[in-house]
Amino acid sequence: MSKGRLIVFSAPSGCGKGTMLAEILKDSRFRTSVSATTRGPREGEVDGVNYHFITREEFDRKVAEDCFLEHAEYVGNCYGTLVSEVDPYLEKGINVILEIEVQGAMKIRQKRPDALFIFIAPPSVNELKRRLKKRGTEADDVIEQRVAAAAGEIAQAEKYDYIIVNDALEDAVSDFFAVIRAESLKTANSGEILNEVLKNA
Ligand code: 5GP
Repeated sequence: MSKGRLIVFSAPSGCGKGTMLAEILKDSRFRTSVSATTRGPREGEVDGVNYHFITREEFDRKVAEDCFLEHAEYVGNCYGTLVSEVDPYLEKGINVILEIEVQGAMKIRQKRPDALFIFIAPPSVNELKRRLKKRGTEADDVIEQRVAAAAGEIAQAEKYDYIIVNDALEDAVSDFFAVIRAESLKTANSGEILNEVLKNA
């Protein structure tokens, strides 16, 4: 059985990453890794489902024990990808998706060069602003900060292997599966296929 693929999925807030992932996860070949964070749970968030919510002391201990594939600080809180959330599943042939920000993604780029890097972009920064306003969860000044942060992140999108523009959800999800399919057909990933073709030749 071939191993699963590690997929890094980054998107500024308001790009519809959550909705896209909900669609993708209907396919049992994929799972998302549950990160550890020192941030407190938001209303409705469940420990072990959205995040593993841990104290700063526990986080530091896990860093010392080398439990993280990568970790980063983001707006005053620590976030980290646990090796135990990733490697056992890859071994079982499941593709593991990491929803992480750009700094963490670039650390994975160095540690796991065979991972697949996908950036989700909004159709335009104006559209992103419109979506954030419509969502209505943030004050106007926070929206401006998020839009500025998003523009900074979008400027780094060229470091990723693929950019998917999430204009219409259905198209974005179908683009994702097209990328996965194309990747599986790459020469570098198709050793087993060739062995099969050449069998008994
Ligand atoms: P939030 O606090 O809004 O849930 O997440 C803040 C940011 O941290 C988001 O961009 C999210 O993708 C990112 N994030 C979540 N988990 C991890 C992680 O394990 N590592 C890194 N580097 N970023 C993460």
